[in-house]
Amino acid sequence: MKLCAHAPAKINLFLDVGPADLSGYHSICSIMQTVSLYDTITVETNAQQDITLRCPGSDLPCDNKNLAYRAAQAFLDAGNIKNPGISITIDKQIPVASGLAGGSTDAGAVLLLLNALFDMPLSGEALLQIGSKLGADIPFCMTGGTALCSGIGDKLSPLPAMEPSAVAIARGGADVSTAAAYAMLDKKYGKQLPERPHMWEKFSKEGFIYSSNNGYYNIFESVILPYHKEAAAYKTLLKNAGARIAMMSGSGPAVFGLFDDDSTAKAAVTKLKQSGANAYLCKTCGGVQIY
Ligand code: ATP
Repeated sequence: MKLCAHAPAKINLFLDVGPADLSGYHSICSIMQTVSLYDTITVETNAQQDITLRCPGSDLPCDNKNLAYRAAQAFLDAGNIKNPGISITIDKQIPVASGLAGGSTDAGAVLLLLNALFDMPLSGEALLQIGSKLGADIPFCMTGGTALCSGIGDKLSPLPAMEPSAVAIARGGADVSTAAAYAMLDKKYGKQLPERPHMWEKFSKEGFIYSSNNGYYNIFESVILPYHKEAAAYKTLLKNAGARIAMMSGSGPAVFGLFDDDSTAKAAVTKLKQSGANAYLCKTCGGVQIY
């Protein structure tokens, strides 16, 4: 038997970081949105007795260093499924280490796909719990849409959906490791990291005013954009090409623009490609889709 899924990338419409706690985890307040830049995941049963992962055309590891592989292992353990015989193939479209949650969405899709493949041994809630242990963004990628994420990234609450929007995404230049980006925030702000519990309260009560161009914010821009010249240049290009909002996603270096119409977004993607970026045209969308 064989099943496939579209695993969407995420962008952050708002992302603020508070100080680290004693275990080194930072509190965050983030508004996340899934977009139709997809990895395609295929799972299939076979006559072997283990998990085989392939990521054709990418340099990603295909063993338990891959989050999707770890998700499969965690699913089999939780479902007490022995000697499974599963092949997983990831057709990678989401750029890696970009702030777009590529690994998390692959892992979330694998959890949902395997549950469907094995006739639903686990509840939706159990799958979300397995996901959250593997990575903070995984439950969000599984459910998708627009959501508020708080705590240390572990508290998720849905928000009224953002109006459908055309999205252009650009990625170029050096990778940014998420851990290094947090270390840069600690160095720049030290104990002064702005805690914004009022934002969490405000967003959870009132939602996010998508039409107010002032609400969009990403604290990581202040440490990444000054040295990452490609990300900074693509953000400016998106703005000049007519984006209503242009900003960095997560810890970068991917940047995105929100556009009121598809044709302006398409023209922006053409310009981004001409200036050397890997650029993608997509739309706001829901979570992992099995087909
Ligand atoms: P983060 O969750 O840290 O914000 P990101 O969205 O910036 O991540 P990812 O594309 O998820 O970036 O990659 C982060 C790291 O995870 C990379 O170094 C990569 O080697 C590793 N990784 C493991 N499995 C995967 C996967 N299935 N897809 C992408 N990266 C993966």
